Amino acid sequence: MPTPGGDRAHGTPAAGVLGCTGPWRPGARRRRWIGYGNAVRVALVLPPTTLQPPLSRPRHAPHYTAVVAAALRDAGHEVVLQDQTLRTCDLQRVVDDAVAARADLVLLVHNDYNREFSTDVLEACAAALGEAGLDVAGVGRLAEEPARTAMERIPSLGRMLFGEPEFSARAYVADRAAGGDGRVEGSAWRDDGVQLRAQSAVDLDDGPIPAWDLVDMERYGFSPHQQAGDLVYPVLASRGCPFPCFWCEVRVRPGWATRSVDAVIGELNELHRRWGVTSVFIADPTFAIERDWALEFCARLPSEGPAGLRWSCMSRTDRVDLELLQAMKAAGCFNVLFGIESLNPEALRLSRKNLDPATVGPAVAAAKGAGLETIVSVMIGLPGDSPAKFEQTLTQVIAMEPDFAQFFVVQIAEDEAPEGGRTVSEWDGSRFDFWGHVWAADAFESKEQLLALRRAAFKRFYLRPRYVGGRVAAMARSGAVGAQLVRAARGGLLALKLARGERP
Ligand code: SF4
Repeated sequence: MPTPGGDRAHGTPAAGVLGCTGPWRPGARRRRWIGYGNAVRVALVLPPTTLQPPLSRPRHAPHYTAVVAAALRDAGHEVVLQDQTLRTCDLQRVVDDAVAARADLVLLVHNDYNREFSTDVLEACAAALGEAGLDVAGVGRLAEEPARTAMERIPSLGRMLFGEPEFSARAYVADRAAGGDGRVEGSAWRDDGVQLRAQSAVDLDDGPIPAWDLVDMERYGFSPHQQAGDLVYPVLASRGCPFPCFWCEVRVRPGWATRSVDAVIGELNELHRRWGVTSVFIADPTFAIERDWALEFCARLPSEGPAGLRWSCMSRTDRVDLELLQAMKAAGCFNVLFGIESLNPEALRLSRKNLDPATVGPAVAAAKGAGLETIVSVMIGLPGDSPAKFEQTLTQVIAMEPDFAQFFVVQIAEDEAPEGGRTVSEWDGSRFDFWGHVWAADAFESKEQLLALRRAAFKRFYLRPRYVGGRVAAMARSGAVGAQLVRAARGGLLALKLARGERP
């Protein structure tokens, strides 16, 4: 079966290349790169989430960073991945570690899967790394204009690599290693203002298997909904989403793009072969955008993919039907999260969710009928919504009896706010479940009210005797009571923390 990245994707660095062999540890001694054609040594630095203690650890492993690292390593470069989100809030330590890496080039990660770094942190890191004499460029998965905006907001950053980042980073490092100026496709630089060179269309099948061996995977944990037991590895069968929901980060990313079924099954086989992976989260923002793709994937996975693979995914209720959900179940899927956000048609319309709420009940019922666990995700504070209408949504969701539900407030960038609402609070990720602006429609009074609604929603959903009894029965039926008890305990703790508005 074709495997993206060819032979280099099989975990064996090219002869003569001193590829890193495990997650970076501070103080680890590494041999200096001694030269191999135009190969160089690159430090890929994930900045801390905050420069003020306490350390705040993201939930999602740095997927795009691992892909960039793999692309550079597969091209023959030596890569040191410094994941400072797990280590320090101290800017000086970030600089000291980057200097100690003795890299020819430093790539400062601007954003990653479900992970935004604050402009202030990025500016401070870029300035300090530059002052230390390091050759720094930013790298992130950004569309062209958002990349320009990022450069304008981070004046210390002299260059930015954008687009699908493994391609722009690979082109940039190759060009710099060959003595070029680095003004490659998918890069921005400063020359009488910000200049950009757009990225031509790329084929995601030409990308590598993420370098998960450079990431401390044990320190990232999916929510218990999506973690049935083993360590879960994320896989992206597609990137982006074609829908325009106003709060969603996909709007500043390159457009929706998918990989071939061959490439995705090839990656799953590689994950199993290299790291014994048996559980994955298909992390596409919306799985099954293309129904035919999803059906082909599900039809081929049992015979062509790793035996016994279990997976979960996220989708929309208007992208699934019973036939597809049954095919997903037969292919090892055990859990699907539906981002419904609301059942109030006006809230969905004003949020540009483009979802018919009439699809929600049938999709949840079909998923349950197919034997899949279901998670329904709801947002509080949407435009056109109100506390009373949110309660109506909650009542309807409970009547559908999904296995799990989650409730989030609306997080947006400041310049994305629609009319009819305002920023009600700035959340501090060391305490809450994210960093940034909380937005709510005018009908919602305050941060305290949002928190109270969220708390009450978790209680109403999870503390029903019928629900608790149903979960106990499902555990007994699962044949793995111990593992399910651990999962339930983790899930209960998570729900409790979210209900309190605390960081999960
Ligand atoms: S459908 Fe989901 S992933 Fe797509 S834009 Fe809306 S919130 Fe984002």
